[in-house]
Amino acid sequence: MQGILDKQLIRKTSFINGQWQDAADTFEVRNPANGQLLAEVGNAGADEATAAVEAAYQAQKAWAATPAAQRAALLMAWHDAMLAHQEDLARLLTLEQGKPLAEAKGEIAYGASYVKWFAEEAVRVYGDTIPAPSADKRVLVVKQPVGVVGSITPWNFPNAMMVRKAAPALAAGCAFVAKPAAETPLSALAVAELAQRVGLPAGLFNVVVGTDAPAIGKVLTQHPHIRKFSFTGSTATGKRLLAQCAEGVKRTSMELGGNAPFIVFDDADLDAAITGLLAAKFRNAGQTCVCSNRIFVHSKVYDAFADKLVSAVAGLGIGDGLAEGTQIGPLISQGAVDKVAELVNQSLAQGAQCRGSAPVPTEGHYYPPTVLTGVSNAMAVSRNEIFGPVAPLIPFDDESDVIAQANDSEYGLAAYLYSRDIGRVFRVSEALEYGMVAVNEGILSNAAAPFGGVKASGHGREGSRYGLDDYLDIKYLCLGGMDK
Ligand code: ADP
Repeated sequence: MQGILDKQLIRKTSFINGQWQDAADTFEVRNPANGQLLAEVGNAGADEATAAVEAAYQAQKAWAATPAAQRAALLMAWHDAMLAHQEDLARLLTLEQGKPLAEAKGEIAYGASYVKWFAEEAVRVYGDTIPAPSADKRVLVVKQPVGVVGSITPWNFPNAMMVRKAAPALAAGCAFVAKPAAETPLSALAVAELAQRVGLPAGLFNVVVGTDAPAIGKVLTQHPHIRKFSFTGSTATGKRLLAQCAEGVKRTSMELGGNAPFIVFDDADLDAAITGLLAAKFRNAGQTCVCSNRIFVHSKVYDAFADKLVSAVAGLGIGDGLAEGTQIGPLISQGAVDKVAELVNQSLAQGAQCRGSAPVPTEGHYYPPTVLTGVSNAMAVSRNEIFGPVAPLIPFDDESDVIAQANDSEYGLAAYLYSRDIGRVFRVSEALEYGMVAVNEGILSNAAAPFGGVKASGHGREGSRYGLDDYLDIKYLCLGGMDK
């Protein structure tokens, strides 16, 4: 764990009811840049998940009754601690996940920004008074925390995906049980260490780490004390977990897969579009759910755009995320590399051409940043979420045709478009069946904005004033006899 100054941040066991748990069994966490063993982590399962839910249940009522300003102050202290340890948290994140250190620092700041945002929102959970239908009645609406929240999050943003669920849950007055991905448990555990340091009461924030995801997942979706389940991950797993939640009619938030179109019209500022695409496609080596997956380029500018992209991609530094100058780190596993290679090979067999593919380090799970031309919307690389640094360019001629192609996907998370025609910007943005549309911009996520999808990309929103609603129940109070 080279370079981590505060060694207490390196925690290797689950955190339940304010205690670090001993475990009989362990699992390995390895650095995807070189395969080196980082930690042997205590392997928790269903029993520990159950203990965490029960501890959360015990802690939640007092937390809900705590004045919002006090909850907000604790969240702000947690936020400040995250930023005070940004460097260490980022290093830990890069070691277990692989992304370049600068991106990891960005992720810590991004995760912390949700804690700040929801600390600020916690004191603004307003209700309503509604004009009653008769003189004897009064109609009031209050908002109350849903209760105990279970969450499961993926390895691609090991800090932020979890923190941006925990922050609104705690702000609303809920208690939280997290299950991070077994590939990247250390970032979540480090954040639990900081929660403990700032004095978050025991049981409100629990982290259960283990390799038996189905067993832990069953508890977090079906335990009677769980009132809400929030998931980020693949659509296939999300559907399974939604079905499990249906049994107990649990509230859910689902942030699932994407297949983002990135549309470049012939009136676009091509250099700005290249800059946006580099961010939207190659950040985290293409392993984000909002990564542009299908790049539609108007045929009038297709060749010029492809040339610019190939030369920009050739300049990307590939290597260990901790090394100076790295912009593309390893993928999470060899399986991930093989999956990307298979999609590229299928597309080449279907007639696409490969342009720009640099050499990569021999050890570690690397895939070279790659540009594919001559791609169609029917090819495998367009139908599947690539989750790797591959940019497929699809030519188009007509606005309505590109809208139809962009919408021809089961997914509906993020979409991007580049155009300087204001009418087109509105027409296309409104017609895209996506939860988020970025116009002349490659990075769309921030704490002030509602992040989330439609169709098979899920439901619920993270961030913004809407984000708190996912953790609040509406209660209607009907007051009668008010005319006497
Ligand atoms: P990815 O392909 O990104 O790993 P997954 O949806 O498989 O996407 O994983 C996201 C999270 O879901 C991880 O924390 C993983 O451990 C968890 N997970 C995977 N399968 C299950 C399951 N059957 N039940 C509960 N959690 C699961």
